Amino acid sequence: MKEEDCIFCKIANGEIPSTTIYEDDTFRVILDLGPANPGHALILPKEHFRDITEIDADTAAKVLPLAAKIGTALKEGLGCDGFNVVQNNGPAAGQTVFHFHVHIIPRYDADPKMVTWTPGTYEDGEMEKVAEKIRAAL
Ligand code: 5GP
Ligand code: ZN
Repeated sequence: MKEEDCIFCKIANGEIPSTTIYEDDTFRVILDLGPANPGHALILPKEHFRDITEIDADTAAKVLPLAAKIGTALKEGLGCDGFNVVQNNGPAAGQTVFHFHVHIIPRYDADPKMVTWTPGTYEDGEMEKVAEKIRAAL
C-alpha cells in the first residue's frame, strides 16, 4: 500500500527523483537531503508503514541485513570509522516523516558522539515497578 500524500512513498517508488545508492524489490536507499555527515543514507521500504510498529515481518527481517550492507559500503567507499543506525518512532522520538525509514550515518573517530544521554538513576524499587508495567503490556 502507498499513501497519497507521503513523500517517502513517492521517493521510494521513483515518482520523485532522489540520489539512490541501492534499490531492490522491497527497498530504495537514498542520501538524506540534510545529512549528519556526507553519505548519510535512508533505507526506505517501497510499501508504506508509518513506523516500526506497522512494518510487516518479511520487510522487518530484511532491514538489518541491508543496514549492515549499506554501513559496510559507507566504510569501504567513504573511509568512515563507524556508522550509526538510527530509527525514530513518533514525534517525541524525533520522527518527522511518517513513513518507516532507517538512517545509516557515517561516523569518524573525531566526531562528537551522537546518540548520547545523561545517565539517570532509579529510586529504591522503582526499576522493578517500571519493568512490571512493561511486562504487563507485552
Ligand atoms: P526522521 O526525523 O523522520 O527520522 O528523518 C527524516 C529525514 O528525512 C531527515 O533527516 C530529513 O533530512 C530527510 N528528508 C526529509 N525530506 C526529504 C526529501 O525529500 N529527500 C531526502 N533525500 N531526504 C529527506
Ligand atoms: Zn509512505
